[in-house]
Amino acid sequence: MDVLRLHGAGDLRLHSELEPAPSSGEELVRVTAVGLCGSDLHWFEDGGIGEDRIVDPFVLGHEMGGVIATGAREGERVVIEPANLCGECDTCRAGHGNLCQQVQFCGHYPTPGGLSTFLAWPSPLLIPIPDTIEGDRVALLEPLGIALHAIDLGQFQKGMSAGVYGCGPIGLFLIRALRAAGAATIQASDPLPHRLEAALASGADDVRLTPVDGQPEGVKNWGPVDVAFEAAGENAAVETALHTVRTGGRVVVVGIPPTDRTSFPASLGREKGITVFLSRRMKQHHMHQAIDLVDRGAVDLSGLITSRYPIDRGTEAFIELVSRSGLKIVIKPSA
Ligand SMILES: [Zn+2]
Ligand SMILES: [Zn+2]
Repeated sequence: MDVLRLHGAGDLRLHSELEPAPSSGEELVRVTAVGLCGSDLHWFEDGGIGEDRIVDPFVLGHEMGGVIATGAREGERVVIEPANLCGECDTCRAGHGNLCQQVQFCGHYPTPGGLSTFLAWPSPLLIPIPDTIEGDRVALLEPLGIALHAIDLGQFQKGMSAGVYGCGPIGLFLIRALRAAGAATIQASDPLPHRLEAALASGADDVRLTPVDGQPEGVKNWGPVDVAFEAAGENAAVETALHTVRTGGRVVVVGIPPTDRTSFPASLGREKGITVFLSRRMKQHHMHQAIDLVDRGAVDLSGLITSRYPIDRGTEAFIELVSRSGLKIVIKPSA
């Protein structure tokens, strides 16, 4: 089978390898679609993420779906829950599986991800999807779940106003999910005009272009919003969130900073008594919630996948990801 391995920063190579043999409790999945994520971009550009580094060539990919290839569930279309939790630590028992320190996470070193023709993964983490979730849109469910977790973390409720700063795929999922959650108004910013257009199409009411590393015009009088979401991984966007959130409001930082450091003007945060939440991944019920929202038509997934690549053109796909010219890029490991 084909396997795309990252050997170091910028160095992806296609290998021909034996299919994995599923151990007991696992199924073999033929992977049909893998979405590329901002975290994959960090691995590709920097050869690591946060404090984790590549030690030997490994396989990225955690936003994905496929078809079960063998056994009693053969033929089922599934979305792959990438987090295999220990389920036994205090954190898991307290219901915070997204923070489990013993988790095996698909596509996070050393656990291989989905950029391969087949993947062996525990059967309970292969969640059947309805026909309403068409084709490679299955790859959009995991990042939608990330947005749903961030919305819960910010204690967002119907009728509240929201700000979304950074309109890459996660920002766009946030806007769509906030609309579905009954947001009164949504304001959004990004340095790229095509992303602001997508933000409007996703349901934002008021969008502003922001200079790279700067603030949108009139930021001090923009809003205020009840909950502000940072989805750029940039300190400038965190600052936009602090400027535009109301006194006593909440800021949820969803983006992953390239330098592993987040900073903001302390006086601004203190004067308003802002609470800052740092969001990590999602809880397992968010994947089910994502499926349900799309199935009911409450969240529309159209217009988000802008490029599709076969696995033998994986490097091109990542180069496009670096360029930020489109929205969600999908690699199709098997046709
Ligand atoms: Zn991701
Ligand atoms: Zn655990």
